[in-house]
Amino acid sequence: MISIALDGPAGAGKSTIAKEAARRLSILHVDTGALYRAVGLFALRRGADPADPSQVLPLLPEIQVSLEFSPEGQRIFLNGEDVSQAIREPRASMAASAVSAMPEVRAFLLDLQRDLARRHSVIMDGRDIGTVVLPDADIKIFLTAAPEARAMRRYKELVQKGHQVDFDSVLRDVKERDYNDSHREAAPLRQAEDAWLCDTTHLDLAASIDAIVNYIKGRTSL
Ligand code: C5P
Repeated sequence: MISIALDGPAGAGKSTIAKEAARRLSILHVDTGALYRAVGLFALRRGADPADPSQVLPLLPEIQVSLEFSPEGQRIFLNGEDVSQAIREPRASMAASAVSAMPEVRAFLLDLQRDLARRHSVIMDGRDIGTVVLPDADIKIFLTAAPEARAMRRYKELVQKGHQVDFDSVLRDVKERDYNDSHREAAPLRQAEDAWLCDTTHLDLAASIDAIVNYIKGRTSL
């Protein structure tokens, strides 16, 4: 099994790039942000404040998250319901960022992630894959881009999906999530020492995918 850890801030293009790289390399793409989003969504649906551990943690025993994979990509199930679309709403993004700061939530999702990497060759994208989840990954990549470039990409994506958003609030969300993700105590976002830094501010999607696929092919048997 070959494991590739792809970490970086919100909106760097991790999921899109990882999905296409996985397709070209014939391995699984595991989007770990979806797991935190599902927990955040569950908290919201139950009327809990996603930032308050005393409201979120008692809900964990009621949560069952599972992933299914097909050529179209990953689908995520929350207690049997397909929430692949619902977790993409902006309110689920903020809730995910809040619940992901809780060590108990991270521990709750750890085995699921490690187990997937044990059973399959994967490219796993997240924040702490190279540092915590798969510290022995064969390849570690830290993907980043300037906040404005990342916000513009996310803005276009949301508009395309029919969401009503304005650019300034998307940029504010990106910066707020960057701050939350890199300043939390539990598994903060940081580049692993042995990770390759790939900055896509001035690369379009096709060039970013090529760079990453070439990097992986040059260093593994894939
Ligand atoms: O990548 P995505 O935007 O879907 O992630 C949603 C949230 O989940 C992020 O803001 C981040 O706080 C959290 N996350 C995390 N660790 C991961 C993946 C995501 O803390 N491995």
